[in-house]
Amino acid sequence: MAWLRNKYECDKCGYGWEGEWSCACDDDCPQCGAQQIAAVDSQDLSVIVEETPDRNFSVSFSPASAQHSPDYIRIYPIHDKDRAAMLAQKAHSLCNPTVRGQRNGWLADVRDCVLDLEKSTFTLDEVYQYERQLSSLYPDNRFVREKIRQQLQMLRDLNLLSFVDSGRYCLLG
Ligand SMILES: [Zn+2]
Repeated sequence: MAWLRNKYECDKCGYGWEGEWSCACDDDCPQCGAQQIAAVDSQDLSVIVEETPDRNFSVSFSPASAQHSPDYIRIYPIHDKDRAAMLAQKAHSLCNPTVRGQRNGWLADVRDCVLDLEKSTFTLDEVYQYERQLSSLYPDNRFVREKIRQQLQMLRDLNLLSFVDSGRYCLLG
């Protein structure tokens, strides 16, 4: 989920501090106790791409299951910089909660269907049960099943799923 490092400055005593939150929340001043100080700056730590000493890349992101800490899922090693950037962008679409009327695209929608199953192991046919629901979200797309399989593959690349055997998947993150 979204994970932010917020910077605060107390307008009463001038004290400055930082805190990590899943939103750009207000905080209380640890120095003088003034309440509801708004963040002056927010850095998004939901997805982090790092170059490793052996010149590969790692992508870390905070999964939907994270609550009180980012619980980063780390994908490593990624040899290609463009691929690392692409995975980071995909991971980013999963880290921001879906706001009503504003969706984060196919990946987040298929991930939500998988979570909705509430099963640790599931089959492709079970995800296909959401075909009609996804069709109504994307009325222009006639290849919903293909799209579902493609997103499941992407969720595997992001270490959120593993393929057990043909047509069976296991939820990881
Ligand atoms: Zn203060």
